[in-house]
Amino acid sequence: MIPKLRQACAPFRLATDDVDLLRAQFREFLGLIPLLYCILAANVCAVVAASWHIDNHVLARLVPAAFCTVALTRALWWWRRKYAHFSDAEIVRYMRSTSILAGVMAMVVVAWILLLYPLGTPADRSAFVFFIAITEIGCMFCLGPVRSAALSVAAIGIFPTSLYFVLADSSRMWVQSAILGFVGGGMVLVLIRHNRSFAELIHSQRDLRVRQLETERLSEENRHIALTDALSGLPNRRALIARLEDLHERSIAHPVSVAILIVDLDGFKQVNDTFGHEVGDTIIRRVSHAFAERVPEQALLFRMGGDEFAILCEGPAAREDARGVAAALLDLLAHPVRLAVHEFQLGASIGMAVSEGGEVDPWELLRQADTAMYRAKSEGGSGLLAYDPSMDDGRLRRKLLEAEIRIGLERGEFDVHYQPLVDAKTGTVVAVEALARWSGRLAGPLGPDEFIPIAESSGQIHALGLFVLDRACTELADWPDLKLNVNVSPAQFRHPRFEQEVKAVLARTAFPPERLQLEITEGYLIDNPDRANRTIASFCELGVRVALDDFGSGFASIGYLRKYPFSTIKIDRSLSSGLGSDPRASMLITGMVHLANGLDMVVTAEGVENERQAKLLRLAGCHELQGYHFGVPAPLSELGLGGSARARAASA
Ligand code: C2E
Ligand code: CA
Ligand code: CA
Repeated sequence: MIPKLRQACAPFRLATDDVDLLRAQFREFLGLIPLLYCILAANVCAVVAASWHIDNHVLARLVPAAFCTVALTRALWWWRRKYAHFSDAEIVRYMRSTSILAGVMAMVVVAWILLLYPLGTPADRSAFVFFIAITEIGCMFCLGPVRSAALSVAAIGIFPTSLYFVLADSSRMWVQSAILGFVGGGMVLVLIRHNRSFAELIHSQRDLRVRQLETERLSEENRHIALTDALSGLPNRRALIARLEDLHERSIAHPVSVAILIVDLDGFKQVNDTFGHEVGDTIIRRVSHAFAERVPEQALLFRMGGDEFAILCEGPAAREDARGVAAALLDLLAHPVRLAVHEFQLGASIGMAVSEGGEVDPWELLRQADTAMYRAKSEGGSGLLAYDPSMDDGRLRRKLLEAEIRIGLERGEFDVHYQPLVDAKTGTVVAVEALARWSGRLAGPLGPDEFIPIAESSGQIHALGLFVLDRACTELADWPDLKLNVNVSPAQFRHPRFEQEVKAVLARTAFPPERLQLEITEGYLIDNPDRANRTIASFCELGVRVALDDFGSGFASIGYLRKYPFSTIKIDRSLSSGLGSDPRASMLITGMVHLANGLDMVVTAEGVENERQAKLLRLAGCHELQGYHFGVPAPLSELGLGGSARARAASA
C-alpha cells in the first residue's frame, strides 16, 4: 500500500538525483519566477478592481494588499539573482522552497477568490471564475520547468476549483467548471510531454558533452603518444621538430638563441648485436633516465630513435648551456653501464649547432648538428664538435660518392685487380688477393681506402663484395693451383644471408671452396665474438678458409688466434715495414709465427717492399709474403703468371 502511494506521489516530488537536469530546469525556472509573481499580483489587482464595491475590508482590500506586497518583493528578489551564482545544493533548496511557496501562494489566491465568490454579484462571480482560471493556468505555465510544482498546482488548485464551481450556484457554473477541468487536464498532458522532451534534450546534450570530452581526451592521448618515444618515455623526434617549428615562428618577431646537441652513443650497436635487443632496450632506458637527470630544467631532452638523442637549449646563454650539458653527458658515459654481470662501456659522439639571435631554421639546425655529430664520430667518437661550415664539404662529397657507387655498380664501372702472394721459401706465386678497383669511374679512379668505407656505411658493400667474389671466382676458375683471397667487410660477415650467398657464388662459378680464403679484420671479432666464431666454423665446414687480416695494426689480441679457427694470419704492413728499424717488430713477428705454428696456422706477411724485409720475414718463419716487392695489384692478365700456375694447370 505504502509503496503504491509513494509511486503515485512520485510525479509530485522534486527529482534531485540528476544534477544536470535540475540545473537546466532551474535556469528555465529562474527566468519565469518574477513573471509568476507578477501574474499573481496582476490577477489579484484585477479581482480587487472587480470586487471594490464589496463591503468586506479584510477580504476586498487588506488581504490582496498584503499579498501583492509579498509577491512583488519576491519577484524583485528573484529578478536580481544570476544563475551562475547558485551552487548545486542551493539550487535544490531554492527549487524546493520556491516551488512550494509559489504553489502555496497560488492556492492562497484561489482560496481568497473563492471566499470572495459568495459576496459578489453574478457579474462579479463570472469575473472571479475567469481570474481563477487565468491565475491557475498562468501559474502552471510558469512552474512548467519544475514538473512537481506544476502538477501540485493542477492537483490542489484546478481540479478542486472546477469541482467547487460544479456545485456552486446550483450548478449554474458547470460549463465554466467543465472547461476549466478540461483545459487543466490538457495542460497536465502537455506539461508532462514537455518535461519529458526537456529531460531528453538535457540528457542528449550531456551525452554529447561526454562524448566530446572523450574525443578530446583521446585526441590529447594520441597527440601525447605521437610525440612520445615508447621505449624511453622521452619526447621523440616529432616533438623536437614541433618545438623547433614553434621556435621558428616566434623567432620571426623576436629573435632567439637556440643550441641543439645531437648525441649518438658509441659502442651501442655492438652491444645490441652481441647481447640482443632486450639488453639493448634496457640500456637505452637506463641511458635515457640518466640523461634526463643530467639535463638541466631549462634544456629539453628528446630521443630521436635508435641510440640517438637530442638536447635543445634556448635563451641568450644557449651555447654555453649546451656545452655544459654535453660535458655532463660525456662525463656520465665515462662510467660503464652495469647490467647484471655485464659492464658496458659506452661513449657519445656529440654534434652541436647554434642559431644566435636570429631566425631559427629548424631543418638547417638539425642538419648542422647531425653533420657535426658524424664528424665527431668519424674522428673517433666520445667528444663534442660544434658545427663548422667547412664540415659540409666532406659530407657533401660522401653523399655524392654514395650515389656514384650505386650508379657505378649498375654500370659495371668496378673491376678486380689481383696481388700475388708468394711462398716465402720458393718464391712461387701460391695465391692472389682480389682487390676492388673503380677503374671505370667517370670522374677518375678512386682508391678502395676511400670508396670501401663509404660503401660500408651506405650498405652497398654487400653488392660490391659479392661482385668482387663473383668476378674473382670466375676469373680464377682456370687457375687450379692458385688460391684466392677475398676481403670481406664486417658488415658483410654480419649479414645473415652472407654464407648462402658465398655458397651460391661458388656453385655458380664451380669454384672449389678449398681454394677460397676470406680475409676479415679483427674489428668484427671485437664486435661479435660468439657469432664470429660460429660463422668462421661453418665456413671451415664448407672447406672455405678464413684469414685474420691486418693483424698487428689495431689492438691485436693474441687471444683471438686461440679463440677462432683461422687458417691464416696476415701480418699488417705497418709491422712488416718496421722490420730492421724497430727491434720490437721482429720480436713480435717471431712470437706470432711461433704461436701460429703451434696452432697450425699459415703466417702471411703483407706490405713487403724490398728484399731486406723479405729476408728478415723468411728468417722470422713467415710462410707467405705479399707486397710490391713481389707484385703490385694488377689485372690477372698483367700479373705475369702465365708461365707458372697456368702452365701447371695445363699439364695437370
Ligand atoms: P688490405 O686488405 O690490407 O689490402 C692490401 C692493401 O695493401 C692493398 O691496398 C694493396 O694495394 C696494398 N699493398 C700491397 N702491397 C703493398 C706494399 O708493399 N706496400 C704498400 N704500401 N701497400 C701495399 P688497396 O688495394 O688500396 O686496398 C686497401 C684496402 O681496401 C684493403 O686493404 C682492403 O681492406 C680494402 N679492400 C680492397 N678491396 C676490397 C674488397 O673487395 N672488399 C673489401 N671488403 N675490402 C677491400
Ligand atoms: Ca686484405
Ligand atoms: Ca691487409
